[in-house]
Amino acid sequence: MNCEKIMSKLLEIDDYSHIPLKIKLHLLLCPKCRRESAILLHSLNSMKADAPYCAPSWIEKSIIAKIEEQNASGYSNISPFKWIASSSIIFASIILVNYSNTFIDINKEFGKSFSIPMAIVMGSAITSYLAILVGCNYEAMIKAINKYRHIILK
Ligand SMILES: [Zn+2]
Repeated sequence: MNCEKIMSKLLEIDDYSHIPLKIKLHLLLCPKCRRESAILLHSLNSMKADAPYCAPSWIEKSIIAKIEEQNASGYSNISPFKWIASSSIIFASIILVNYSNTFIDINKEFGKSFSIPMAIVMGSAITSYLAILVGCNYEAMIKAINKYRHIILK
């Protein structure tokens, strides 16, 4: 993303306590946008401090909760069923490939030297799948981790 897109995305954010990773990375690497975002945040904070009326926090929280409820499905365009189905196919194929005639014939021909490249291919498939899963559901995962932090950290 270029600087203009980053700044327009930054302006679209309602709650600056959580800035998306893509924008954070750009702000880390781009001094111009970092300076502009600092000025923007400073301006917003000073406007907030001088506001004639401040909504009670319970109203803000209930409005934000309703907005999050409406946008809850917007985290990922891919349904959980499809993620589970694709992971099941990957794991089933890893198990079933050991019983295929072609795999058995190739294993007989090349012996144990075939197992290592096969394991590398399977490991790459799992790693790619997990990287895409985390990349597509990053926001939801961070939210879930924060929600269940007290259980995870026990
Ligand atoms: Zn920039």
